Amino acid sequence: MHIVMVAVECSPIAKVGGLADVVISLSKALQQNGHKVDIILPKYDCMRYDKISNLRNVYDSLWVSYNGELYANKVAAGDVEGVNCYFIDTCWHRNFFNRGTFYGESDDAERFTYFSKAALEFLYKTGVEPDVLHYHDWPTGLIPVIFRDIYKPLGMNKTRLFYTIHNFAYQGVTSQSVLDSISLSPQSVPGEAWEKDQWGVVNYLKAGVIAADYVTTVSPTYAQEVMFSDKGMGLQDLLRRNHYRFSGILNGLDYEYWNPESDPHLVTKYSVKSLKGKYDNKRVLRKKFGLQEGLKPIVTIISRLVQQKGLEQMKRSIYLALSKNAQVVLLGSSPDPRVTQDFLRIKEEFTDNPDCHLELAFNEELSHLLYAGADLIVIPSIFEPCGLTQLIALRYGTIPVVRSTGGLADTVFDAFYSNQDIGSRNGFVFHESDDAALDSGLGRAIDCWFEQPDFFQKLIVNGMKQDYSWKRSCELYLYIYQGLA
Ligand code: ADP
Repeated sequence: MHIVMVAVECSPIAKVGGLADVVISLSKALQQNGHKVDIILPKYDCMRYDKISNLRNVYDSLWVSYNGELYANKVAAGDVEGVNCYFIDTCWHRNFFNRGTFYGESDDAERFTYFSKAALEFLYKTGVEPDVLHYHDWPTGLIPVIFRDIYKPLGMNKTRLFYTIHNFAYQGVTSQSVLDSISLSPQSVPGEAWEKDQWGVVNYLKAGVIAADYVTTVSPTYAQEVMFSDKGMGLQDLLRRNHYRFSGILNGLDYEYWNPESDPHLVTKYSVKSLKGKYDNKRVLRKKFGLQEGLKPIVTIISRLVQQKGLEQMKRSIYLALSKNAQVVLLGSSPDPRVTQDFLRIKEEFTDNPDCHLELAFNEELSHLLYAGADLIVIPSIFEPCGLTQLIALRYGTIPVVRSTGGLADTVFDAFYSNQDIGSRNGFVFHESDDAALDSGLGRAIDCWFEQPDFFQKLIVNGMKQDYSWKRSCELYLYIYQGLA
């Protein structure tokens, strides 16, 4: 099959969140299964160009109509981790992708609508008719609408339209004028995608769902949650009515990159067969942050410091772990200065404390040492579409303590209360988002470390043996792609 991904993020060249990781690692996995994959991205000025090889211009005058005028765009191509990527270069005066940032501009809807139109025009002009056009999240939500309105009537009949939504909290709600700018007739946008209470306002995520041949989100439990609870952020009813073409496929983890046996960031490599190296990393971690040696577990938190991730519960975990004689290392960063201030206050409170360190930064390298050196990781998310943190922790033998939501519920099984067999249990799970639930989950985990070391070791081994690579997830995507053909 020929699959074309259209997205606005792609690791490692344009990463903001999990979407970027999925786009590249799913593409690699599909390619390894013998399929042809291309990715179409905007040509941002702030991409990691050092991670693109063989970058060259492949198309010089891609004309796209915008606000009644025709504008020329260029298309470049290059290899990213062995996958061919096309980059749409909108070289006209609005400088859509030369802003030094991926998102967060006041004209994001216009930028990504223009990109979606240009991506489809490029396929049309070059005579490429993929079997599957796989588009992601709200920025490309209009792809199937533009495709059905403009390109299908021009003879592109073969292509199936596949939508993956990585987070229902971001929907892309914008005014009709953006449609006018790319000459898309308002009638082509399905009626339900218009926000009834606001005149002329269109919801990209809804449009993308209605006009798709198939829709997925990133874990089976999140798929249920968005259909049957307010986690659907207003799309519950639409999704329930379309349940026959909607499902959840768990994200995989890149097992080549996240591998304690070969991770270049670790002082000592280790594997499930020999865990000794894990404890060397624990020693290095303690030394790095001036923590005392001793018979204590290290509890870590590695997270964006945002409401979705359970800010209050993260804070509570620090105090609870210390009160139970554990050590704590938090690595977190926030886009909100008030949240940063809040955590800075806690950091100050524990200055020179031999059992606690807060690192308020985004530091990829340090995160590897934490995954390797810690014993427990707390993930108290309010909602979590899939979550990679728990998958990385399991791979590195660090036991996750999680709130049972979304992908966390699909991958972490409680040591004592799970209905999974004993060999599949790999963590500690709590259900409610109140203090008592967290205290119980984290309390049980720390007690287990102190009182049942052999059983704790068994949980580590269980987790490290589990397979959350892309292999299975990729097969599920292929199964659905093939069913649509
Ligand atoms: P989300 O994409 O919602 O932030 P995920 O669990 O899907 O959550 O992915 C989080 C990824 O970002 C993981 O790879 C995690 O290790 C990494 N990460 C989060 N915060 C930091 C940080 N402060 N420094 C380094 N890596 C971080």
